[in-house]
Amino acid sequence: MKLDKLKSINCFITWMPVEEESGHVSKIPSLTGQPFDYAHYKEPGMLTDYATALARLESTPLLHDGGIGVCIPTGVLVLDLDKCRDPDVGTIAPAARTIMDECKSFSEISPSCNGIHVWCLANLPAGYHKKKFMRDGQSIEVLVPGSFCTFTGNAIGVCSALEDCTEYVSALYVEAGIQRTTIPNVYLPPSNDPLLHCRHSPGTCPYGLKAIEAQLIEVRTVKKAPGRRDALYTAAVSLGHIVAGSGQITRDQVYDALRPMGMLVNLTRGQCDYYITRGLERGAHKPVFRDCAPKNVKLLEGLPTKSERIF
Ligand SMILES: [Zn+2]
Repeated sequence: MKLDKLKSINCFITWMPVEEESGHVSKIPSLTGQPFDYAHYKEPGMLTDYATALARLESTPLLHDGGIGVCIPTGVLVLDLDKCRDPDVGTIAPAARTIMDECKSFSEISPSCNGIHVWCLANLPAGYHKKKFMRDGQSIEVLVPGSFCTFTGNAIGVCSALEDCTEYVSALYVEAGIQRTTIPNVYLPPSNDPLLHCRHSPGTCPYGLKAIEAQLIEVRTVKKAPGRRDALYTAAVSLGHIVAGSGQITRDQVYDALRPMGMLVNLTRGQCDYYITRGLERGAHKPVFRDCAPKNVKLLEGLPTKSERIF
């Protein structure tokens, strides 16, 4: 997911610094910066896109010591790497650098300038929570959807997009010996936009191609006249779920694949187009969201099954 896409989602809000008795400064969501006027950011209407939050920050003098934050949307995780950067010279601790290099996902400097946030796409099963653990002397806090996280946009490294780090983060949990718990995560749906879109160029996604192939086999194996129409329609419905969801397949691709197969089993071109169109319409009523990993990719133990996925 490109950074601009994240910025277009209604998940942003301004924050103000609040010094606690311990001396620790917390970053608390607030729309005004007035003392004790904290925003309940999960309530409707509080979260906006990035540009709106930025405009508020810039036009509200009491927020000038604050910044912009995100209520982390579904499908996104942040790895919060604390105290890993020298704010004066910019050197980064090797253990933190390793994590950035392994994730290959958009990373930014924290408001204090001594930490780094790695922003990832991740589709973890329910039961993975906000967790803090150490790795090679570096503290890692995994911030999950629904958590508040500051956002500076002050990029570090070469990655300008959020990449899918599901397997990487799962492996970190396993490595740290963290067990899944049975308490479900609380997810906030910040927008209707599906976040985990296909990142392949149209028509080339391995998951999409596999799905089409599976449906072609279904249609081809039905020889009897009435069944052929049903099979074509059902195939179009199945693919229509994906077209309307995470988009690994295009509409045109469905016509191009199913039409010749329909004609091969002696349906006319008109019949084929009719049933494909109806099937696509029907499928769009129930979009499905999947990542692009082909089914034969072996996932780590404990990774989500289809029914457990966030989407
Ligand atoms: Zn894809």
